[in-house]
Amino acid sequence: MELIVDREHLGPSTDEWNDRIAGEGISYLSLERVRRLVVIAPHPDDEVLGAGGLIETALREGVLVEVVSVTDGESSHPNSQIAREIDIAAIRRRESELALRRLGWDQPLITFLGLPDGDVASHRRELDDALEDLLLPDDLCVAPWRRDGHPDHDACGESALCASARVAAKSLGYLVWAWHWANPQGFDIPFEECVRLDLTRRARARKRWSAEAFHSQILPLGPSDEDDAILPPSLLRRFWRPYEVFVNERVRT
Ligand SMILES: [Zn+2]
Repeated sequence: MELIVDREHLGPSTDEWNDRIAGEGISYLSLERVRRLVVIAPHPDDEVLGAGGLIETALREGVLVEVVSVTDGESSHPNSQIAREIDIAAIRRRESELALRRLGWDQPLITFLGLPDGDVASHRRELDDALEDLLLPDDLCVAPWRRDGHPDHDACGESALCASARVAAKSLGYLVWAWHWANPQGFDIPFEECVRLDLTRRARARKRWSAEAFHSQILPLGPSDEDDAILPPSLLRRFWRPYEVFVNERVRT
């Protein structure tokens, strides 16, 4: 697996994934016995791209929701002069708050851990401790799948899986970058272990409106190549599908 994201590497089409998902007979996720949903976001925007529909559904069904924003995503444009001149961390925190309000959440509850963007793996202990402190038995903890393909995503996924197992919370892995690098005809994503959530029209509309709050990621910061949008329309499109998929992985201890 290699994560290359640029104009030449746009990943599989939405149709290819839709065809694969349709043929998989994936079981449906129920929130019936979930008291609280805790969503772990490595970078502000992952919570919406990977689980925005789930957050909207949980809020509508009266489930408590909390988001843990692990880094501020301050390294999204590492070579951009403009990014150095603005407080991109503060901008991304505000974008996340606005995005969550657009999902129907009046006062989003977000814990910002402020770990370094790009180096979560070196701070695993800190993250593990924070998640173990926060999680309660019977919470549903949703984090990136631990093989999503970005080092911060994988570290968050691994940490959430372990912390959830230790406190007897349930956990699921959401997919962001796996949709980009995985082969729709192959076995990269373990669909036999997945559950799906079908989104209402309202949830889909809210998710899309919510993602549009991330101006610093969906629009270019400036005119040079280094300022390019991280999430151009061609890439965002795959998150507008009428369902979300989560990996229901068992911890093997
Ligand atoms: Zn991310």
